[in-house]
Amino acid sequence: MNSSVDIKSLTSAELKEFLTENGFKAFRAKQVEDWLKKGVTTFDEMKNIPSDLKEFLKTRCYISVAYIEKKLKSRYDKTVKYLFALSGGEYVESVVMSYKHGWSMCISTQVGCKMGCTFCATGKSGFSRDLTASEMLAQIEAAQRDLDIRISNVVLMGMGEPLDNFDNVVKFLNLVTSQQSLNIGARHITLSTCGIVPKIYELAKLKLQINLAVSLHAPNDEIRRQTMPVAKAYPMDMLLKACRDYFDTTGRRVTFEYALISGVNDSDENAQELAKKLKGLNCHVNLIPVNSVEGTGYNKSDIKRQQSFTDILTKSGTAATVRRTLGSDINASCGQLKRNHINNKEDK
Ligand code: SAH
Ligand code: SF4
Repeated sequence: MNSSVDIKSLTSAELKEFLTENGFKAFRAKQVEDWLKKGVTTFDEMKNIPSDLKEFLKTRCYISVAYIEKKLKSRYDKTVKYLFALSGGEYVESVVMSYKHGWSMCISTQVGCKMGCTFCATGKSGFSRDLTASEMLAQIEAAQRDLDIRISNVVLMGMGEPLDNFDNVVKFLNLVTSQQSLNIGARHITLSTCGIVPKIYELAKLKLQINLAVSLHAPNDEIRRQTMPVAKAYPMDMLLKACRDYFDTTGRRVTFEYALISGVNDSDENAQELAKKLKGLNCHVNLIPVNSVEGTGYNKSDIKRQQSFTDILTKSGTAATVRRTLGSDINASCGQLKRNHINNKEDK
């Protein structure tokens, strides 16, 4: 990457202005955008663009790319997991999943993460840098191009904490939903956060109509603080109040993510306490048997525990389901593919 203009982070109006200011016709902006949408990685691929414009773009701009470094395909379903190399030489992971309603993609928002959740492979590998809006788009475009599909749903649940990269993420959300870009409906986008409370209020104020998922993973602060350092800054009461506000302001239901960790947060008492805390909140709880990450010592709850936990929540009026696992053979939880890749490289 260099100090030139990140062309894929420009809105339509900005691109038009940039080109006309430099003596090119406004209609060229749409042509350039169409090529970018197709996922081209060089200006030379833009066939109907005159050579003076191509030269100008080459000297003044760069195209953010996500190169496929590694690709894993599930043997059981259509899930594909990518390890992308970015222009700075860093790696991020993304997953493409097939559902009845179309293709869904889970993308990364940061290289690593500062939040340090103890069960998470990404959290364990530390933080390198924020992704730009165009690098978030590039992951989707690269997968669409590679698989010849159209992604219709996006979840910001890969590596990184989206609300810790607020401005770039909001820019991405505005771009990805715009007609000139990938035109994915805001209601088909879900942002997952570990619970950075002030940013949840800020996001709500934007009224973007995206879905909010909050990683709760505990029924009380005591347990939450053991696995999620962010809970020390923002206690659960504060977090749940922010979730209520999100619903009141946007009308969008909040989803809670809850990784069931054997012996840590999965007892019947834990379920009862959680049910009490969530009473009256228009929400859905996604229960996820925790993915074991090397070095954490955490194991997933057995099927009986999962069922009992789900039943207690449902009976008390809180919608809860155990998340269907897609690509179980390749679903080393996000962050693990990168860790293995880097470890293998270092071993060589
Ligand atoms: N930083 C955001 C989004 C990325 S993490 C967040 O924390 O919400 C995406 C989801 O994966 C979160 O719900 C996170 O808690 C969960 N997760 C991380 N490691 C996991 C593991 N080992 N098993 C199950 N879920 C995990
Ligand atoms: Fe970061 Fe989310 Fe992993 Fe926590 S779970 S370390 S917030 S990516």
